[in-house]
Amino acid sequence: MGTRITVELSHADAAIARQGVDAVMAEMRRIDNSMSPWIESSELARLNREAADHPVAVSEELFNLIKTSIEFSRLTGGAFDITFASVGFLYDYRKGVHPDALQRREATELINYRNLVLDDATHRISYSKPGVRIDLGGIAKGHAVDRCITLLQSLGIHQALVTAGGDSRMIGDRWGRPWSIGVRDPRNENKLVAVIPLEDVAVSTSGDYERYFEEDGIRYHHIINPESGDSARELRSVTIIGPDATTTDILSTSVFVLGLEKGLALVNRLPDIDAILVDRHGAMHYSEDLQPARKPESGARPAAAPVPD
Ligand code: ADP
Ligand code: MG
Repeated sequence: MGTRITVELSHADAAIARQGVDAVMAEMRRIDNSMSPWIESSELARLNREAADHPVAVSEELFNLIKTSIEFSRLTGGAFDITFASVGFLYDYRKGVHPDALQRREATELINYRNLVLDDATHRISYSKPGVRIDLGGIAKGHAVDRCITLLQSLGIHQALVTAGGDSRMIGDRWGRPWSIGVRDPRNENKLVAVIPLEDVAVSTSGDYERYFEEDGIRYHHIINPESGDSARELRSVTIIGPDATTTDILSTSVFVLGLEKGLALVNRLPDIDAILVDRHGAMHYSEDLQPARKPESGARPAAAPVPD
């Protein structure tokens, strides 16, 4: 998945604890092998190669994840759209490559979740136009974290934290105290702008600092606005707190694309979802249930955000 996986857990029986850690690592590898666009033998790579020519049967797991992606495309007015990859593949953040304006415009016309045709009965998927591609980078890590939590629970483990890059979920507490999740300063990796005590929730952060390069003072990063095919630039980071990591992963990417006003409006109308946003000037914004008692000055280190019970 091109990211760091961590697992912390507790169980009275050391052998079961060990089994839990091994199960998490094996599950992460399994999902990567199925959903990575870079692994040629993955189901996802095969879809991208063949689905514009003929319907391709996929596993129930991948089918359902693509279905969930499309449901959230509808919910977010198209801000979340896995067909962003139709233009996304033209960027190489490591090499500092981006499409020129014409290439970008042409490829952006292919971005539309409605170009994905799903057959519920046979789990076949086809693309209605050549050139359409999908990428699950905005949902797969959250899904993987949720799967791992389910595996741990089935082993009888009820105190755990599983993290894949910016996506985490915790069950129970951390040996009698809440888990603690830090939101980093988008412009200083050694500084936290918020520390949140949490139990039994998922948290995802999307930022413009994970994969990016700068050219002529413009930051090109990995979260793409499906309307323009260009990086979304209204925010620097979005942290979402919610019941499961698939949802928080999707919503952190979605709110990043929607920007401050529309993003917060979406969060505030969704039950059980909270958000901490850092805007392009470095100022912090909170969803309604997270409003800190005293608004921190921009750039100042705020107190931990209060946590809803
Ligand atoms: P990460 O944890 O990898 O930083 P994020 O949750 O911030 O991931 O999501 C960014 C990833 O989501 C990108 O690397 C890309 O694969 C995918 N992505 C980018 N833009 C969109 C979009 N508009 N809709 C859906 N997925 C997207
Ligand atoms: Mg995400």
